[in-house]
Amino acid sequence: MTTILSSSHAPSLALPAGLDRTGVERIVREIMLRSHGVPPSQAAREPQRRDAQPKLVVSISARHCHLTDEHVERLFGPGQKLTPHKNLYQDGFYAAEQTVMLVGPKRKMLPTVRVLGPTRKASQVELAFTDGISLGIDLPVRPSGKITGTPGCVLVGPAGAVELAEGVIRAERHVHMSFADAEHFGVKDGDRMSLLIKGSCGTVFRDLLVRADATSKLEVHIDTDEGNAADLDHPESVELLKQTGHTGPAPGWG
Ligand SMILES: [Zn+2]
Repeated sequence: MTTILSSSHAPSLALPAGLDRTGVERIVREIMLRSHGVPPSQAAREPQRRDAQPKLVVSISARHCHLTDEHVERLFGPGQKLTPHKNLYQDGFYAAEQTVMLVGPKRKMLPTVRVLGPTRKASQVELAFTDGISLGIDLPVRPSGKITGTPGCVLVGPAGAVELAEGVIRAERHVHMSFADAEHFGVKDGDRMSLLIKGSCGTVFRDLLVRADATSKLEVHIDTDEGNAADLDHPESVELLKQTGHTGPAPGWG
């Protein structure tokens, strides 16, 4: 185990021959869905907003990681940068051509974890519970960036390996939006909303964390477990709802 932690043993760290580094898996399946119109009661109160319903996009984030500049160089070689492969819905963000291998605490591994860009101040791995079960990692549910005390793992690239002491999470379901969208829904950054999905496996996801800023486009991020459970490849409709009742953060992090 120790040999793969050392970037000085680069020759032994090459990925297995035949591993498809670019086409194994779609990472982010974006489902463009125009949400239903404003409910009649709300339309009656706010007739001027009837045509202002923001377009709702629900995206399923497959397992992925974010890396620091330093970790990119240790995994892919000195001077290496992430290469954009596919732009994500949010402006400035992309799936990189690069992928890494993830090795868990029981030496079980995931051969292909896509790297998303741009780079960050701290490396972080976002997995679904199903991934955690296969790796033997009891994943904590965290908002992105809240990784203190979370499990670690080893990431392996073609030029070296990185041991993360922490940073492996299941990303908490959330919705990005602009301040204008937040005003439209009557919520603010840090509030909670519900996502109503109608279809063959219709469900309501509660407690989506609202992440509002000046520039984000309206987009829900859930993971593959959630998307598959709701058959989100074949929805009849999706609707974002202001939530009453519990509006605080999930317990257990902070
Ligand atoms: Zn997100």
